[in-house]
Amino acid sequence: MTDLLLRDVRVENSPDPTDIRIRDGRITAIGGPDTSPATETLDGDGRIVLPGLVETHLHPDKALLDSVRPNPTGTLAGAISVTAELKAGFTHAGVRARAEQVLRMCVLNGTTTIRAHPDVDPVAGLTGLEVLHELRDAWADLVTLQTVAFPQEGILQAPDTHKLLRKALDAGADVIGGCTYAEKTLDDCKRHIDLVLDLAAEYGVPADMHADFADDTADPRFALAGYIAEQTAARGLSGRVALGHVTSLGGLPPAERRAVAAELAAAGVAVVSLPATDLFLGGRRDERAVRRGLTPVRDLWDAGVLLACSNNNIRNAFTPYGTGDLLETALLLARLAHLSGPADLHRVLRTVTHDAAKVAGLTDYGIHRGAPADLVILDTRDYDAILLDRPARTAVIKAGRIVARTTRTSDLTLAPTGALEA
Ligand SMILES: [Zn+2]
Repeated sequence: MTDLLLRDVRVENSPDPTDIRIRDGRITAIGGPDTSPATETLDGDGRIVLPGLVETHLHPDKALLDSVRPNPTGTLAGAISVTAELKAGFTHAGVRARAEQVLRMCVLNGTTTIRAHPDVDPVAGLTGLEVLHELRDAWADLVTLQTVAFPQEGILQAPDTHKLLRKALDAGADVIGGCTYAEKTLDDCKRHIDLVLDLAAEYGVPADMHADFADDTADPRFALAGYIAEQTAARGLSGRVALGHVTSLGGLPPAERRAVAAELAAAGVAVVSLPATDLFLGGRRDERAVRRGLTPVRDLWDAGVLLACSNNNIRNAFTPYGTGDLLETALLLARLAHLSGPADLHRVLRTVTHDAAKVAGLTDYGIHRGAPADLVILDTRDYDAILLDRPARTAVIKAGRIVARTTRTSDLTLAPTGALEA
């Protein structure tokens, strides 16, 4: 017996359509002789199916605040200060309502796993984390949520945050977060990193830190990727540490940035590019030849660093844009990083699928027999044009059930004159 039969679909870049059979939330057959009856059948009509998109870095707790109070300066400092003011008025119900709007946007766009980074600090307390834990259960049939306890305001400069992080991990946070530049001195930033990695080792959870988020390394608090690589290796945490932003790396001379990229690769530290935020907040002091503020994607790839791309913030002081569509953000990364042509674009697509899944620690990700049936069917038959077209997500499938559908039609209603005869 088959619960769901996807008939006539193309698996990623395979040219030949096939059928996918799903039972008890997992893929049981791709093609093959199985002809067992199906409870539900979806005819793909030759469309492409991808494994569900993976959002490795998102802040649902502070999304959708731009209409309440926008960033007064357009800088990172402006975003942090205006959000800190707004956080003082956060309520459980308010955070939940905004976070659920964001989850809905993400699921409609084909995302089946989200790593969420709610703020944990003396102002917000554990409100964001508690809401995300509620939603982790309430939305479990639609999307897998991981929670990261994120000390946005620092650890050493925000009293009691270290205790709050322990409380968050005791309450079931999946990942320990960090904000490595949110301390007053370089030594305190290093101590922040040590504290986060020590908690990761003690609790047996991955670490996912915001790091080196600046246009350049003039301020040494924004040049800590090498230190993080060294400390990750020292604790045996290879493959368990990810860094968001890492934009100042792009400001180093080529030989220096390649050396740091090699250190990250050797230590098994992944990087998550957050291009929508980086582009908005970056280059604010530049009066001409404004920098794009992007992590050096090509150098990281060449060094063998695992790289994902994610949305980070949706419509707030850090990023006043966004629809929750990872394909849109991946295309933005391609544009900003000068990536083009099928080989580059296929690789960019991996930053929101296969490579993102590795960053999020997902096992058994992908479209193969026995894998969880987390899938998205795209309204296209052209794999090379997925990022260019960002086609409608015809169906989103979570654990073998269809959880969202989108139909979009566009037609010319008038034929051009003088058309050539067929
Ligand atoms: Zn972030």
